[in-house]
Amino acid sequence: MHHTSLIATIVAGLGLAFVFGALANRLKLPVLVGYLLAGVMVGPFTPGYVADQELAPQLAEIGVILLMFGVGLHFSLKDLMAVRKIAIPGAVVQITAATLMGLGLALALGWTVGAGIVFGLALSVASTVVLLRALQERRLVETGRGKIAVGWLIVEDLAMVLALVLLPALSGMLGGEAAAPGPGGVAGAFAITIGKVVAFVAFMLIVGRRVIPWILHRIAHTGSRELFRLGVLAIALGVAFGSAALFGVSFALGAFFAGMIMAESELSQQAANETLPLRDAFAVLFFVSIGMLFDPMVLLREPLAVLATVAIIVVGKSIAALIIVLAFRRPMSTALTISASLAQIGEFSFILAGLGVSLKLLPEAGRDLVLAGAILSILVNPLLFVILDRVLPRMMADEREAAGEPPLIAAAQPHALLVGYGRVGKRVAEGLKGRTPLVVIEDDPERAAELRAAGYETVNGNAVLPEVLLKAGLDKATHLFVAVPSPFEAARIIEQARAANPKAEIIARAYTDADVELLKSMGATHALVGEDEIAKGMLARAPKKKLAAAAGGH
Ligand code: AMP
Repeated sequence: MHHTSLIATIVAGLGLAFVFGALANRLKLPVLVGYLLAGVMVGPFTPGYVADQELAPQLAEIGVILLMFGVGLHFSLKDLMAVRKIAIPGAVVQITAATLMGLGLALALGWTVGAGIVFGLALSVASTVVLLRALQERRLVETGRGKIAVGWLIVEDLAMVLALVLLPALSGMLGGEAAAPGPGGVAGAFAITIGKVVAFVAFMLIVGRRVIPWILHRIAHTGSRELFRLGVLAIALGVAFGSAALFGVSFALGAFFAGMIMAESELSQQAANETLPLRDAFAVLFFVSIGMLFDPMVLLREPLAVLATVAIIVVGKSIAALIIVLAFRRPMSTALTISASLAQIGEFSFILAGLGVSLKLLPEAGRDLVLAGAILSILVNPLLFVILDRVLPRMMADEREAAGEPPLIAAAQPHALLVGYGRVGKRVAEGLKGRTPLVVIEDDPERAAELRAAGYETVNGNAVLPEVLLKAGLDKATHLFVAVPSPFEAARIIEQARAANPKAEIIARAYTDADVELLKSMGATHALVGEDEIAKGMLARAPKKKLAAAAGGH
C-alpha cells in the first residue's frame, strides 16, 4: 500500500462523516456536528488513524469552489451592484469592530498589538461554506436577505485577499519578522493587489463573458450529457484555479465569477444541477478538515480565552452586523438573518492565523484560539438558525403589517387564489386576466413588489403559514392554483386549504406520479405533471384527421 494517502483521506473522511453524520441525525443534532466530530477522530490530536493534513484542506477547497460557483449561478451583476451599498460598508464596519474586539482580548492576554490585529482579523471573516450551506438549506440564497449576505461575504473575501498580501509587508512594523521589502513597500503591495483584482474583474467581464457561454453552448450542442457535465466542472475549477494563479484572488471569488457569467446563459440551471452531488460531497470534507485541526485539550488549557473568543465571534460580530443593517433601515428580520449567517469563522481565519504564526506576529496560542473559536462557532451556528426559524416567520408577518400592505379587494369576494409567481404562476396569472378576480401569494418580497406594481392584488408571505392563506381570502376562493416548485410545501399548503375551504377547486403543480398521489391525498382536485402536459401540447399539434379504416393497415 504505497502512495494511497489521497484515497485514504477521502475514504476516511467521507466514511466517518457518514457514520457520525447519521448518528447526529439520529440524535436530532445538525449533521455537520457529526462531520466535525469525524474530523476530530481522524485528526492528529486523537489516537488512531491520522488523515493527511496537507490533503484534507485541499479537498475542502474544492468544496468551497463548487459552492461559490453554484451561488454565482444564481447571481447577476445587477444583483451584486444592488447589494453593494449595504454590503461594502457593512463588511468594512464589521471587520473593524471584530478586529478591535480581538485586539482587546489579545492585549488582555498580554500579546503584542501586532498579534492582536492578526487575531482580530482572523475572527472577522465568516466561512463561505458554513454561510452558504445555512442559506441554501433554507432556500435563502435568492432572497433579498440572502443576496446581501452573499455580497457581504464577497467583500470580506476581498478584504482578506488584501490582508494576506499586506500582512507580510507590514510585519516588520507590527513587531514581527520583517519580510524582504517589495517594490514600493506597503503602498506598492496594496496598489498591485487592487490592480490585480480590478484586472481580474475586467478580464472576466470582457473575455470570460464571451468565451464561457460560447463554450457551454458548443458542448450542449454535442448532445452528450457527460461532456456537458465535464465542461461545467472544467470551467468552474479551471477559472477558480486560473484566477487564483494569475490574479491572486481567492479560489472562491474566481469560482463565483465563473458562475455569475454562466448565469447569463439559459443553460445555467442545467449547469447548476450537474455540480450538485460533487459539491455536497466536498462540502462535507470541508467540515472534516476543520475538525482535524481541533485540539480538544485547548478547552482545558485556556477555557476563559476560548469562551471570550467564541463570544466575540458569535455575540460581538452579530451585534455589530445588526446595528449596521438596522442603520441602513432594513427590517429586523433581515438584520437577524445576516447576523446569524456571519456569526462564525472558518477557512480564511486559519490561513490568516497560520500566516501570522509563520511571520512570528501571532503566538501559537493565538492560532489554537482561532481554531477552537472556529469549530465552536460552527457548532453553534445551526442552533442560531433554529431559533431564527422560530421567530422569523412571525416577525416578518408583523413587519409586512407595519409596512402597510394595500387592502385586498378581491379577497373579500369569490376569487381565484394563485400561490407562487414564478415560471408557472406568471403564465397562470396572465391567462386568468379578465376571467376572475385574482389574489396572488408570493414569498419573495421583491417579486411581490413587482406584482403589486403590475396591478395584481398580492400577499407577500409564505403560503405554508395559515395566516398568509387567510389574509388572501382562502375561505372565499373558488379556485386555488398552487404553482410552487416544492411538492412538500405544496402538500402543506393544500392540506390547510382543504381543511379551511372544502369546496374550492385546487389545482397543483407536480413533478412525478408520486407527487400527484401525495397532493391528491391532501385534497388537490387536480395535480399536473409537466411531462404529461408537454405530451398533450404536442398531440394538440398532431394531425387531426382520422385515417380511413381501409388505409389504416400496417
Ligand atoms: P418557479 O419555480 O420559477 O415557478 O418559481 C416559484 C415561485 O414561487 C417563486 O417566485 C417563489 O418565490 C414562489 N414560492 C415558492 N414557495 C412559496 C411558498 N411556500 N409560498 C409563496 N410563494 C412561494
